[in-house]
Amino acid sequence: MLTSTELNREAILESVEELICDYLRPNAKKIDQTGQFPRENMTALAEAGLLGLIIPRELGGLGATPSLYKEIVMRLASACASTALVFVQHMSATSVMLYGAHQPYVQTWLKGIVDGQCLATIAFSEAESGCYFFLPVSQAKSEGEDHFVLNTKKTMVTSAGEADIYVVSTRSTFATNSMQSDFFILTRETEGFSLGGVWEGMGLRGNCSAPMTVKDCLVHRDKLIGTEGEGFKIVQRSLLPMGQIGISSLNLGIAKAIFDESVAYVKKRHYSHLDAGLSSFQSVQQTIGKMKVLYDQAEKSLQTVCRLMEEGSIDLVSTLEIKVMACETVIRMAEYSLNVCGGFAYSSHSPLERLIRDSKAGTIMGPTPEVLKELIGRTLLDVPTKL
Ligand SMILES: Cc1cc2nc3c(=O)[nH]c(=O)nc-3n(C[C@H](O)[C@H](O)[C@H](O)COP(=O)(O)OP(=O)(O)OC[C@H]3O[C@@H](n4cnc5c(N)ncnc54)[C@H](O)[C@@H]3O)c2cc1C
Repeated sequence: MLTSTELNREAILESVEELICDYLRPNAKKIDQTGQFPRENMTALAEAGLLGLIIPRELGGLGATPSLYKEIVMRLASACASTALVFVQHMSATSVMLYGAHQPYVQTWLKGIVDGQCLATIAFSEAESGCYFFLPVSQAKSEGEDHFVLNTKKTMVTSAGEADIYVVSTRSTFATNSMQSDFFILTRETEGFSLGGVWEGMGLRGNCSAPMTVKDCLVHRDKLIGTEGEGFKIVQRSLLPMGQIGISSLNLGIAKAIFDESVAYVKKRHYSHLDAGLSSFQSVQQTIGKMKVLYDQAEKSLQTVCRLMEEGSIDLVSTLEIKVMACETVIRMAEYSLNVCGGFAYSSHSPLERLIRDSKAGTIMGPTPEVLKELIGRTLLDVPTKL
């Protein structure tokens, strides 16, 4: 198990590569075909100490920088994007919990994560606010001095029923808008917390997303992360940066795998009747060239965003636009791949078909590229955003 005392970028990446070879690559096809949760992969990541990747070293985690987090998620996603999504949502939940790292209850669960005992996820999405998933409509009620009653229906929760900890959002008791929100830590065993339905998505089929219901759930105040009404601040400070890096890296990891598979196929495809390879056609060469340019631009931009975050000089527009770039890149890479690889890419016998389906989720997951572009435009045009 990697520990905080031996934090070393190369050692961590070596450990990740081993897990990818031993578990993620061999399991990827089966996970996609069966839609089963990647339990074996996640246990291996937990045993290696990687669940505590972004937890600071003073709290026992590996204290990874955004750049290292990006690198790891990209590699996981290239091998098995379902596992990468489970990992990313765990990290997003962890980033919210870190906001309350001084609170005893939160500390207990952070310790569980560091020890590889707890998998976390975020339960935010509600039908009423859809892809604006950081803006809950459900509202908490006070119960006596120390408790809240929660009632909320979450439409899609990655690792539903599989994770141990669920960071659940709801409007604060006094809220008059969705920005006045709270995050609570609920566990799988919390009374009134139940799973509803099975995930049947087009791609990322092993992430086991499902609706979850919180009904008349009596929750002690110590399970509230931060103080009442701080939800949107937590989104801006903790969730947004790590969430954007995570989902962007996931999509660029898929894009990298699409590129590598496409190049490998084009290189080996040969037409006997022409005695020529597919790689000999100029338009195919140009498509591969375009894919390389697209991928490199997005990957370098993501690297820059990570560096700016590490330096503390990141701006809002750069944080928002990186996910737009990553999601649009992977979609275009998937289209180009179909163009040059034809039936091979279309068939479930090739890994490309799975990767192409996996490439679609990023544009659906909140905040979607369309919503992000609107937010960027509003920011640049000084148009106030009503939330
Ligand atoms: C694989 C996967 C895993 C997920 N995991 C989680 C999870 O772990 N936790 C969680 O809380 N949620 C999760 N979600 C849910 C996700 O974050 C979104 O909340 C959800 O996908 C929104 O879906 P919707 O159909 O309700 O979107 P809708 O809000 O109905 O949006 C439909 C479409 O309208 C577009 N749209 C909306 N507003 C605008 C606008 N202003 N301009 C232009 N277009 C617009 C959107 O881009 C979108 O494409 C997951 C989703 C997926 C696909």
